[in-house]
Amino acid sequence: MLDTLSHETDRILIGGSWRATPDTLPLHDPSTGEEIGRIARGTASDIDDAVAAAQAALEGEWGRLTATERGRILTRIGLRVLEHVDELAEMEARDVGKPLTQARADAVALARYCEFYGGAADKIHGETIPYLDGYTVYTLREPHGVTGHIVPWNYPMQIIGRSVGAALAMGNACVLKPAEDACLTALAFARIAEAAGLPAGALNVVPGLGAEAGAALAGHPGIQHLSFTGSVGAGVAVQQAAGANVVPVTLELGGKSPQLVFADADLDAALPFLVNAGLQNAGQTCSASSRILVQREVLDEVSRRMAEAYAAKVVGPAMDDRDIGPLINARQKARVEGFLGQGADLPLLAQAQLAEGLPEGGNYVHPALFGPVPPDHVLARDEVFGPVQVIIPFDTEEEAVQIANGTDYGLVASVWTRDGARQMRLARKLRAGQVFLNNYGAGGGVELPFGGVGKSGHGREKGFEALYGFSVLKTVAARHG
Ligand code: NAD
Repeated sequence: MLDTLSHETDRILIGGSWRATPDTLPLHDPSTGEEIGRIARGTASDIDDAVAAAQAALEGEWGRLTATERGRILTRIGLRVLEHVDELAEMEARDVGKPLTQARADAVALARYCEFYGGAADKIHGETIPYLDGYTVYTLREPHGVTGHIVPWNYPMQIIGRSVGAALAMGNACVLKPAEDACLTALAFARIAEAAGLPAGALNVVPGLGAEAGAALAGHPGIQHLSFTGSVGAGVAVQQAAGANVVPVTLELGGKSPQLVFADADLDAALPFLVNAGLQNAGQTCSASSRILVQREVLDEVSRRMAEAYAAKVVGPAMDDRDIGPLINARQKARVEGFLGQGADLPLLAQAQLAEGLPEGGNYVHPALFGPVPPDHVLARDEVFGPVQVIIPFDTEEEAVQIANGTDYGLVASVWTRDGARQMRLARKLRAGQVFLNNYGAGGGVELPFGGVGKSGHGREKGFEALYGFSVLKTVAARHG
């Protein structure tokens, strides 16, 4: 049994000590609506303490470790996460409401991030630069210092892995503010990291409200870098707060990601991706594919087959491990139902099934597939963040690109076609941080740089690229004659 499960959850971690806070917040199981525990309500003063503890870690044991030693610790954390995959999965399923199998995949991904960044920690090198006669010039990659990490509720383990993992690999000391709706695995991860030998203060965890602990972290003058994943509104507020201190920010804000299906596509291969990329985690995925653009010649076939796939999907409680779970909270449920109401004028192609006897208090919505939908409809433009997809017809490649690039977002896109030249053309023309050719999502992609353009955000996490983002380049020029 993972110690965390027997520890109180209403604690913050600062400089290696787990503290209670005077106020706590309730934690609800999205599958039932029941209160399953209390979490700490961290304040601005707790954030002050966490930043000070991180700074002390940089000046202490953590700051003196070599890159190889940091990498070893991260690798050990990853191995321990693997030992506790089932418990972490159950914790995440109850906290987030995601089906157990999906929660398990997230726990494995967390381990993989730790292993990847553990192995990469000592493989980021500087350069020597040919310069004037009598000079030697080289570059050093150094940590920013104290990094802030504001994490949402939809994929806590994956997002902690990709941002905290990369930041620790480069020698930063982290202050993590998990989401008020789901933070159990953040606390569990910190316990695992402690047990694996991460020095005190290298990772500090302060749960709490966005407007309190989150805002305090974003505007703190003692941090040197901020990583934020969440909504556009909060992202803008965070960037403004950090901007006042000239602190660089990585923003990952979501999207309206399209899949383009051409008449020559291998539809058997495409079908599972078209549907699952929209329904995974009940559509509460920044890279969810909520728009399916289909060339008119195959519109009927794709619509029919997607509708069949929808009708076979079942919504149920996370622990029953059906295809789709509930939404995170009543607010998100009301928001998604509002969008579904706006789809009343659209042709409804199919809905998933609701399992019998769903708990009354759960945040369940009825997943829906609409089509054909005009590209300027609100459901074809706005991020719903729920299990809702639209099929948009197109005739030509040019029109497909225009529609695909026609929203404020640009996170992920995919192209289904057997035409190699078209694949290459569209990979360049599509406005997105990632383009997939004849696939979508590519198995999670720990190794693949990820991030957006436009209102999807800026900066890149995942892969080696994140290690550049979580470090600063220093140029050293020596004149020796
Ligand atoms: P949110 O942006 O409000 O919350 C994300 C994180 O930011 C949480 O930890 C929260 O406490 C913190 N936060 C909120 N306001 C803050 C502020 N002013 N300063 C600092 N930190 C702050 O997201 P939400 O309300 O939980 O979800 C609403 C919408 O956000 C969703 O419908 C969806 O569109 C989007 N979202 C996107 C992602 C993503 O992965 N891109 C994840 C979650 C939510």
